[in-house]
Amino acid sequence: MKVYKLGGASIRDVHSIKKIAYIIQKEGKTNCLLVISAMGKMTNAFEKIVSTYVNKQQKELSIAIQFVTDFHTKISNNLFQKDHEIHKKVSSLLDLMVGFLVKNKSNDYDFLYDQIVCFGELLSTTIVSSYLNEVGVTNTWKDVRKLIKTDAIFRDATVHWEETKNLINSQINTSELTIVQGFIGSDANGNTTTLGREGSDYTAGIFGYCLDAKDITIWKDVEGVLNADPKVFKETQLLKQISYEETIEMAFYGASVIHPKTIQPIQKKEIPLYVRSFNNLNSRGTKVGRGITIEPLVPCFIVKKNQVLVSISSLDFSFIVEKNISYIFKQLDQYQLKVNLIQNSAISFSVCIDNTFNHFDVFYRQIKSLFKVSFVKDVDLYTVRHFTSDSLKKIYNLGESLLSQTNKETTQIVIKKNK
Ligand code: ASP
Ligand code: MG
Repeated sequence: MKVYKLGGASIRDVHSIKKIAYIIQKEGKTNCLLVISAMGKMTNAFEKIVSTYVNKQQKELSIAIQFVTDFHTKISNNLFQKDHEIHKKVSSLLDLMVGFLVKNKSNDYDFLYDQIVCFGELLSTTIVSSYLNEVGVTNTWKDVRKLIKTDAIFRDATVHWEETKNLINSQINTSELTIVQGFIGSDANGNTTTLGREGSDYTAGIFGYCLDAKDITIWKDVEGVLNADPKVFKETQLLKQISYEETIEMAFYGASVIHPKTIQPIQKKEIPLYVRSFNNLNSRGTKVGRGITIEPLVPCFIVKKNQVLVSISSLDFSFIVEKNISYIFKQLDQYQLKVNLIQNSAISFSVCIDNTFNHFDVFYRQIKSLFKVSFVKDVDLYTVRHFTSDSLKKIYNLGESLLSQTNKETTQIVIKKNK
């Protein structure tokens, strides 16, 4: 049996939902479990409902609820006849959500988030399942919250594997086509939990693992895994195959390929993962598997923008040793400054950090009384896996190189862009 995952970009409108029917008909009408996330950018829209509700912004809350209502209603109006039962199903899901908000007494943001945001997946799967049944792709819709059990850490729940595996195996008929929601699960009390943003890929990994799937396919609106982000680099190449380890390395350096969490369960059982284009069934996309060498062997580029490069040395020319480094790291951790590169010499210590929460200035004030500190803001960190001298030249040409570091497979370069 196989597992398919379809994300927001592959179910953003009527046209793409119709395409799902085509893909399933061509590629896997039976023996298939389909994991579906919320449509388009709907998860962001549900997040807006949560934040406006918690902040008691009544007007904005009504607008946010109206927005998701209109979005789903319009899609189902376009896909189904007026008297189809789907319209009732969609409105009762939306009523359930609003009803929850009316009755709710909790102030726990993360709890509320999961109880509301899950409606994105509940609505999308309900619509897609009904549509597929309508056009002859017979399938069974399941509430994944009865299958994936987790702890009660809302927004970042951890899977209870044994229980989940038993539930999935006793309730999924692997000879049929089943549709489940990605991203969500439930705790021991039956409250909805979520697995972290972009969690639907992980859901596909969970089902693949529990059902011993033959393979998993993530359908995307790009050809597969590329050697660079097409939004940043003009020329990109499709990677035909890469290893689990390579995807984990690339994710570590900041590529948004496949979340390492997704790889964890499936690499244990060596289940191959395919990333394929929704728009081009003739292309085989990318295969991810155990120990396979990258093909084609080309440099892979990853960039992290808007970094701060900080150099720290002692005030009296003494060495920077364990004690100082440990203190510096404690401060970095406290101010949520994520370290992406470290370089150490006798008297100075450099780090390239993400300033996501804008805490750098407080950090700087904190350490500058104890150390000599210099920094350059707004630099870019380029990582080149499987580098060649030509590929590095390309990066050096982008601006002034402030620091570089090479190990076996990887070179990292901090660049201050030419103005
Ligand atoms: N809908 C969720 C999100 O946007 C989960 C997913 O798409 O994977 O994060
Ligand atoms: Mg998504």
